[in-house]
Parts: sequence; structure tokens; C-alpha cells
Amino acid sequence: MTELLDAVRSGASRETLAETPLPPTTRALFVRRDEQDIFAGLASSDKDPRRSLHVGEVAIAELAPDEVYVVVMASSINFNTVWTSIFEPVSTFGFLDRLAKESVWGARHGLDYHVVGSDASGVIVRVGSAVRNWKVGDEVAVHCNYLDDQDPSAHDDSMLASNQRIWGFETNFGGLADVCVVKANQLMPKPTHLTWEEAAVSGLCNSTAYRMLVSRNGAPVTQGDRVLVWGASGGIGSFAVQHVLNSGGVPVGVVSSAAKAATLRELGCEFVIDRAEKQYRFWSDPHTQDESEWRRLGRDIRALVGDDPDIVFEHPGRATMGASVFVAKRGGVVVTCAATSGYLIEYDNRHLWMKLKTIRGSHFANYREAWAANQTIVEGKVVPPLSGVYPLEDAASAVRDVQHNRHEGKIAVLCAAEREGLGVSDHELRARVGEERLRVFRRSEKN
Ligand code: NAP
Repeated sequence: MTELLDAVRSGASRETLAETPLPPTTRALFVRRDEQDIFAGLASSDKDPRRSLHVGEVAIAELAPDEVYVVVMASSINFNTVWTSIFEPVSTFGFLDRLAKESVWGARHGLDYHVVGSDASGVIVRVGSAVRNWKVGDEVAVHCNYLDDQDPSAHDDSMLASNQRIWGFETNFGGLADVCVVKANQLMPKPTHLTWEEAAVSGLCNSTAYRMLVSRNGAPVTQGDRVLVWGASGGIGSFAVQHVLNSGGVPVGVVSSAAKAATLRELGCEFVIDRAEKQYRFWSDPHTQDESEWRRLGRDIRALVGDDPDIVFEHPGRATMGASVFVAKRGGVVVTCAATSGYLIEYDNRHLWMKLKTIRGSHFANYREAWAANQTIVEGKVVPPLSGVYPLEDAASAVRDVQHNRHEGKIAVLCAAEREGLGVSDHELRARVGEERLRVFRRSEKN
């Protein structure tokens, strides 16, 4: 392995990379089938990913004709790895076993371990025989929409495909490894002004926020729209805020600390609500919601921006959905992609139908949307909200931090990259975007 990684790290030519032998195994972060019941009986928050996630050598899978091997310079932690690592809401091995039944190539995924990770930046080191647009040596970012392109349902909006999957969550051989396996239609150019770790944190979260707030498949923001963004300094929220600003909208960001509020203001979000300071109690007990608290949030939003939100960017789920439906403007849209605090949702339907509101479900992004979202990064219009960097050996601790909401923005993981700060080729664009803007989320540097 060292020979291949050294060749990539030293910027070897395409020819040298193609001739450097591919090792049989790679270092990777994985969960094990024989441990899928270790947390039985524990509350979700007590299920510690550091017990279930392991770093070790695993076999490199054979390459299908439409796939490439990427040496992963950096990857990132997404909330989906929290779900995988605590085996909630279902064990990940069910996903892998279903994929294994679909085809000969699918069968590779049905293993007794699952290599996780749905983001990557790195260098292509081999291409399958059917790959046309990418070459060994290309520097790439990876998005996680994993498709069967022989399925007719995948050919309008591919997120509507009947067997659409998220790479590294519902498939094996994900990005938290030195070498990953990726379909060619997951590849995008790596932004040239970014380091490997900066380039690794946008694929999943930026594409998701883009579909929700820019694409016609979501709830596209138009000039002047007021948009309530929950978790506005978190993974998807920090991209959402930037897309609202770029579309001429007015984001109202909700966060849970003064420090996060300060980060958000630095990002350009003028209107911020600190929910810890406000102490909203939307649920007076685990079964009862308090409409007066929804009203209090609504008044706070009006006091800041003069009106109700046209769009609510929703993902906390059970904790906030009642409030989100209530505060949305007459005719407004609640666009949701998740349910971090619980997926059995309750809201007062009278507020939805009498005020002609819409709840729109959204999930990741199709290739066109992911590519367009990547372009916003490539052109420096959106910055990756990188807040911290961990080595692969310690990635489970980063997953624990994300599980307990102890992070801001995105956490990157160094895989093959030997240290931070490498990988920038367009220094002029970097200077134009601005070092300060690229480091808004690096709180450790501010303290
Ligand atoms: P994240 O970085 O952990 O951010 C989530 C934010 O939500 C936190 O920063 C927190 O902000 C806020 N939050 C958490 N619990 C809350 C509660 N009870 N009430 C109000 N706010 C709460 O995670 P992420 O990457 O942004 O992902 C968020 C969710 O979306 C996860 O469940 C993830 O799995 C899901 N997701 C889905 C897709 C998709 O394609 N469907 C894609 C990406 C992510 P404050 O504490 O500062 O308020």
C-alpha cells in the first residue's frame, strides 16, 4: 500500500500511477456484522460509536467496469455514519444483504463488515473498462448518489429511482478508507483552490442543501424569501444559509449557543436565534406540544425579519416539526430531509390545510444537482464549513462528537493525506475567496 500512497502523495504522473501495483487490502473504518447487537437495550445517546467502529485492513473489492478506485486523501463525518455505528433505526447489514441479491457486482457488498463514509476527495488510481470521462490521475470529489443506470426509473430524476442508495451508508466500500470504490457517475472535479480536507466535506451536505433550497425539485428560494434554517451552523444548515444568501433570500438561522451564533454571523447570516438562550419548550412533556411556544418562536422570527418564513429548512424532526409547520407563512413550504430527534412526527394539520402550506420531502441530490452544487464550491461562491480535522485512526471519536452535537459545520478525516493544508493548486482563486472566509468555522483557531 505504501508504494501506491507514496506515488499519489508525491504527485506522480498518470503513467506512474497506472503502473504502481494496487495492494490487496486497504486501511478502512468499518462496523462488524457480529457486533450489530452490542447496543441492545441501551438508549440511543448511550450507544457509543467508539465501541462499534474499527480501523483495520480489509480486502479491496474487485472493480466493476463502471467503477474507479480512488485513493482517498480525505473524507468527512456525516450523520449517517452515526446511524450506521449505532445500528439505528435498522442494522446496516440489511441494506448490504439486499444489494448483494441484486447482481453479481452487488454480491461483493454482502460482507461481514461495512466500510462506511459518504464523502471523499482524492485521486483516481484505476478506471474500469466502461469508464469514459475520467482518467487515472484525475483529482476528484465524490458525491454519494449510488444508482443502477439500467433501471428505467433512474432516468428522470434519479433520486426517484426505485433502488437508489447512498454510497458508504447503504453500500459497502465507502470513503473512510485509504482506497474506496466509486461509480464513475459519482465523480466530480475537486475544487482546485481547496485543500484535500476542505474538498472532502461538501459532497453530501452541500448537495442535499442545494436540492432543498435551489433546485426545482425542492423549495427554491427567490429574492427576498425569508427562510428559517434549523441547525444553521451544522452540516447541512451551514450550506443552506449560504445558498439562501446566494439566492437573494433572508436566512434566519437557529443555533444552540452564543459561539455558534457568532460563527453564523461571520458567515453573513444577520438574523440568528439562539434556541438555548430562548429556551423554547415546544414539547411540554414527551407526548404533548405547547402551541404557545410555537407562537413565541413565530413572534421572534417576525421581530427579526418582519414576516413569517416563506420556507422552513427542516431536519431535526419530532422536536421541531410542529413548530415548523406552525411558523411557516400562509402558502409557505416546509422542506424536510431528516428527523434527527425522532421520525414519528406530530403537527397540527389545521395550520397546514387552512393556511395552504406544503410539506416537501427531499433526499440527497441527483447527479445534475450534485454537480451544480459542486460548481458553487469550485467557483468559490460557497465555502466548505470545515471546523476540525481528525486522523482516520481516531475517526470514531469524531463520530461520537457529531452524535452528541459537539461540533460545528463539518469535520474532515485525513486518510491518505499526510497532513492538513495540502492539495491546493489554484492559489489565486484561494486568495480571491479569502483565507479568512475559508476558516470561519475553525473555532479552535479563534480561541
Ligand atoms: P449536524 O451537523 O449534526 O447538524 C444538525 C444540527 O441540528 C445541529 O447542529 C443542531 O443545531 C440541530 N439540532 C439537533 N437536534 C435538534 C433539536 N432537537 N432541535 C433543534 N435543532 C436541533 O447534522 P447534519 O449533517 O446537518 O444533518 C442533519 C440531519 O440531516 C441528520 O439527521 C442527517 O442524517 C440528515 N441528513 C439527511 C440527508 C438526506 O439526504 N436525506 C443529507 C444530509 C443529512 P443547534 O444545536 O445549533 O441548534
